[in-house]
Amino acid sequence: MFNQDMYKLGSHRSVIRELFEFGKKRMAEVGADKVYDFSLGNPNVPAPECVRQAILELTQRPDSTSLHGYTSAQGDAAVRKAVADSINRRFGAGVSPDAIYMTCGAAASLTITLNALNEGNDEFILLAPYFPEYSVFVTAAGGKPVVVPFDKTDFSPDLAAFEKAITHATKAVVVNSPNNPSGTVYSEKTLLAMCDILRGKEAEFGHPIVLIADEPYRELVYGDVEVPYLMNLYDDTIVCYSYSKSLSLPGERIGYIALSPNLADVGGVYAAVCGAGRALGYVCAPNLFQQVVAKCVDALPDIAAYKRNRDLIYNALTETGYECVRPDGAFYLFVKALEPDANAFADRAKNLGLLIVPGDDFGAKGYVRISYCVNYDMIKRSLPAFRELKESYAD
Ligand code: PLP
Repeated sequence: MFNQDMYKLGSHRSVIRELFEFGKKRMAEVGADKVYDFSLGNPNVPAPECVRQAILELTQRPDSTSLHGYTSAQGDAAVRKAVADSINRRFGAGVSPDAIYMTCGAAASLTITLNALNEGNDEFILLAPYFPEYSVFVTAAGGKPVVVPFDKTDFSPDLAAFEKAITHATKAVVVNSPNNPSGTVYSEKTLLAMCDILRGKEAEFGHPIVLIADEPYRELVYGDVEVPYLMNLYDDTIVCYSYSKSLSLPGERIGYIALSPNLADVGGVYAAVCGAGRALGYVCAPNLFQQVVAKCVDALPDIAAYKRNRDLIYNALTETGYECVRPDGAFYLFVKALEPDANAFADRAKNLGLLIVPGDDFGAKGYVRISYCVNYDMIKRSLPAFRELKESYAD
C-alpha cells in the first residue's frame, strides 16, 4: 500500500525533532522555565533589518503578480545574477549566473545535488560528525553513505581514514564547515590536504570526485577565523547554500546551488541539477524570498548574541568539568557525554530538564550536541542543572 522506507522515515522522527516535540509537551506540564531546550538549530537572532525593508518594499509595489507568480524553474535570472555577483565579489570564484540554481534551503540544495550526481550505487563520503539528514538524503537518492571518522582533538576529519575511504565508486564528498554538530571550522591546511588527496584519487580512478560544500553556517564564525571558499581550492566543487541561518530565514525555505566554473562538464552537471530539481518537484523556489535575498545578498547576521552565548556555555561547562572543544563557528557545542552511552546520558539530562541531542545519529557515539542559538537567560538558568548532572556522575 505504501513505501516502507518512507513509512519508516515518516513514523520515526529524527532524534532532534523528537526532543523538540517532547520539550513542548514538557513545558506545558511543568512550566517553560523548568525546561532548557537546546535541541533545534533554529536561529534566535532576528533577520537583519535589510530583510524587513526588502519585504516591505517588495510587497508595497502596486503590481504584485510578478512577485507571487512562477519564476524560471532554476530561479529568476536577475536573482541568479545578484547571487553570482555576490559570490564573485566576495570570493573571486568566477561563477556564472547560469550555474546557479535557486532552491528551498540547504536540504533541497543537497537532495537536488545528490540526485543529479548519483548514477547508480555511487558512494558519498560523509565526514563525521555530520548532519544526520545527510545519510537520509544520500540513501533516498540511491547512493551509499560512507562515513569517515574524526580526530577527537578538534573534530577535523581523520585524513588517513579519508584517503582509505575513497574508492572507484566514490562520487562525492560532503564537507560542512562551519560544522553541525561540532562548530568546528576546518582549517585551510586540512582542506588543502583533503583536496590533494582527492586530486590524487581523481587521477588514479580516472573520473571526477566532487566536493559538495554544504555551507549554511559560512557567515557564522567568531573572531578572525577564515572559512576558505572551496571552489578556490578544488575545481570539482558544488556549493549548497542556504539563507536559513545566515539571514535567520529557516521557515522561508530559500537557498541556492552554485557550480564552480572549473567543475568537470559543468554544463552537463547543471542540466542534471535542473533535471533533479524537476524530478523532485523542487522548481521555482519561493519568488518573494528569491527577490528578498537578491536585495540582501551581502547582508551579514549580527552574530554578537551567538558569540555571547557560546562564551557563556563553553566557559561554564568546561569550568564544571565537561570536556568539549571550543567551537569557532555555527551555534553548536559538541560535548563528551559523561558515560559511554550518550543516549543514556541525554536521558539523564532530560530528567533535569536539559534537552540535548545524543551524537549517535551524527556519526559520533559518546557525545551530545548543545544548540546554543537560544535565549541567553535560559542558558544562565540551565547552568545549575548542568552542574547537577555532572555531580550525579561523581562516585
Ligand atoms: N545542512 C546542515 C549542516 C544543517 O545544519 C541544516 C539545518 O540545520 C541543513 C543543511 C538544512 O538547512 P535548511 O533549513 O536550509 O534546509
